[in-house]
Amino acid sequence: MINALTIDVEDNHRIVARNLLGQQGPPSEAVVANTNRLLEHLRNRGVRATFFVLGEVGATFPELVRTIVNDGHELGVHGFYHMEVFRLTPEQFRREIGDAKSLLEDLSGAAIQGHRAPTFSITPQTHWALDILAEVGFKYDSSIFPFQKSERYGWAGFPLGIHRMTLGNGRSIVEAPLPVVSFLRKRLPACGGGYLRHFPYWYTRWAMRRIQRERPAIAYLHPYDIDTGPTPDWLRTALAAAGNPAAFYLAYQRRNRHTVESKFVRLLGNFRFAPLIEVIERVLGATSGMGP
Ligand SMILES: [Zn+2]
Repeated sequence: MINALTIDVEDNHRIVARNLLGQQGPPSEAVVANTNRLLEHLRNRGVRATFFVLGEVGATFPELVRTIVNDGHELGVHGFYHMEVFRLTPEQFRREIGDAKSLLEDLSGAAIQGHRAPTFSITPQTHWALDILAEVGFKYDSSIFPFQKSERYGWAGFPLGIHRMTLGNGRSIVEAPLPVVSFLRKRLPACGGGYLRHFPYWYTRWAMRRIQRERPAIAYLHPYDIDTGPTPDWLRTALAAAGNPAAFYLAYQRRNRHTVESKFVRLLGNFRFAPLIEVIERVLGATSGMGP
C-alpha cells in the first residue's frame, strides 16, 4: 500500500501572534529552516510528498516554494493567512484560496490541484467551502477529519476513504479525508500533528498498519512540529505585555516536540509514501479525470 505524506507549511509563531494578539506581520524565517530540515530528510530517503503552503509563506519566501517543486514534491494550497473556514464568509474564502492558488502557481509554474483548510475546518457547518473550491478550479480537497472532536473540527460519520463528492452547485470534487483508525467501534485520529507529537511512535505505527490494510493513510505534519527551539523573545514579550495567558498554550504546543523528528524519520523508513495527487489517482483510477 502506498500512503500519502502531506505537510502544512505555516509559521506557528505568526499565527499565534495574529490569533491571540491581533498582531499582523509576515511569517518568520523559522518556517524556512524547519521546512528545509524536512526536505533534507525526504531527499535522503528519496521520498516525495505534498506540501500545502500558505499564500503568505509563498509571498515572503518564494525561494522555498521553488525548492519544494524542484525537489519533485506536489504543491497545494493551505489558504493565504491561515483563516479557518468558519471565520470567513463564502466571498472571503473564495479570495483566500484564489489568491493563494494564483500566487503559488505563478511562483512555481505548476498547476495546483489540491487544498487543505486550516485546522481541518471543513465540517457539516462549512461544507459550502467545497462548492467554492470546485469553482476556483481545485480538483481535490483534504480537509475533513472524519470523527467528531468539537463543533469546529471534525465530521462524525463522514466516509473514511478517498472518494468523489457531487456538490450542490452541480460540480464535483474529490475528498481525501484525514486518517482515523477504527477500533472498538470508535474512530481514533492518528498519523499526524498533535497525535504524532503526544503519542508514542508505536501508536502511529499501529494506526498506519491498521489503516493501510483497507486504504491509504494520509499522514500529515507541520514544519514547526520539529522546532524544539524556545518561544522567540518577540512573541513572549508581546504576549506578556498583552497580559495574555498563552504561556500554557505554547507549552502544550511544545510538549514532546523533541520526539517528532525521529518519529518522522522512522515513518519514512517503515512505510511507503507518495504525493497525495498520485495516491488519489491510484485509488480512483484513470477515469477520475484527475490527470493533467
Ligand atoms: Zn495549518
